Amino acid sequence: PRLTNQIAAGEVVERPASVVKELVENAIDAGSRRIELELEAGGSRLIRVRDDGSGIDEEDLPLALSRHATSKIHSLEELEGVASLGFRGEALASIGSVSRLELTSNIDDDPRSGWRVVTEGRLMEPRVSPAPHPRGTSVTVRDLFFNTPARRKFLRTEKTEFGHIEEAFRRQALSRFDIGWVLRHNQKTLHQLKPGDDTVARERRLQALLGKAFLENALHLDLEVGGLRLWGWVGLPTHSRAQADQQYFYVNGRVVRDRLVAHAVRQAYRDVLFHGRHPVFVLYLDVDPTLVDVNVHPTKHEVRFRDSRMVHDFLFSSLHRALGEARA
Ligand code: ADP
Ligand code: MG
Repeated sequence: PRLTNQIAAGEVVERPASVVKELVENAIDAGSRRIELELEAGGSRLIRVRDDGSGIDEEDLPLALSRHATSKIHSLEELEGVASLGFRGEALASIGSVSRLELTSNIDDDPRSGWRVVTEGRLMEPRVSPAPHPRGTSVTVRDLFFNTPARRKFLRTEKTEFGHIEEAFRRQALSRFDIGWVLRHNQKTLHQLKPGDDTVARERRLQALLGKAFLENALHLDLEVGGLRLWGWVGLPTHSRAQADQQYFYVNGRVVRDRLVAHAVRQAYRDVLFHGRHPVFVLYLDVDPTLVDVNVHPTKHEVRFRDSRMVHDFLFSSLHRALGEARA
């Protein structure tokens, strides 16, 4: 099974930021109210995600590190044939196969209880030992790719890798305003975001993550038509520091990069864009879940709408109107 773990790791674990993304998704899934991220050396030396979620009980700890489904794949060639399908239920196993991983957890409110499993690449079977921990889970990933030198060599500079981590953090922190977040790098606290679901709290977070200029040039909108709701902030591309990558679009709380969405947004911005300026936005589309399939691909962030024409028209007309009003 370790062979398949390491192969699958290529799919899930591209770089430190992909580890962060998977660990934070797990923390969110566990119902956490507060999630702390701690990194060292751009994540290549240390990635730690600590949450106050449901925790994992003693018996389930080793299971969390093993692949859920028995794989039928026995060779690299076979794997390459199906790699595009993506994998699920094996992020921790994959990460554990290419790092030194510690998983500590407690399902109890008593902070004196708790258990830990440790693995080192593919050489070790997980062992469980007592380890006190407040209710919740900490995952510590050290020396990513220490046992796959070819992949370790592909890591970029600390600054670049941390940039990707920060971007993953931004995306996830903007997806859940009701969760408190902390981001630390090399013992420095870079973000400390309080939870809060009202507009004031949300805009405070927006400013912390995207900067003052974004918020000063952004317009808040909230529109609802026939089961579709679009809310968030659209930035007027008036300031030259507008960044091409300040584009965040969520469908039912999940970050999405989708052609239909991108097209509708571009069309709506057409009249207000001028040379060298990019649309900047943080937008949330809430749709009846039965009208959208978000599981088209687990990592590519695509969506499929039942009625894509209606969604496109709704996005276009809402944004077009909002941008027109903002200009007037
Ligand atoms: P998946 O999330 O797709 O189920 P993972 O390998 O990411 O697969 O995680 C394996 C399992 O370990 C999860 O299904 C969950 O039961 C448990 N788990 C992982 N991280 C956490 C966490 N932070 N809190 C609680 N349970 C967790
Ligand atoms: Mg997961």
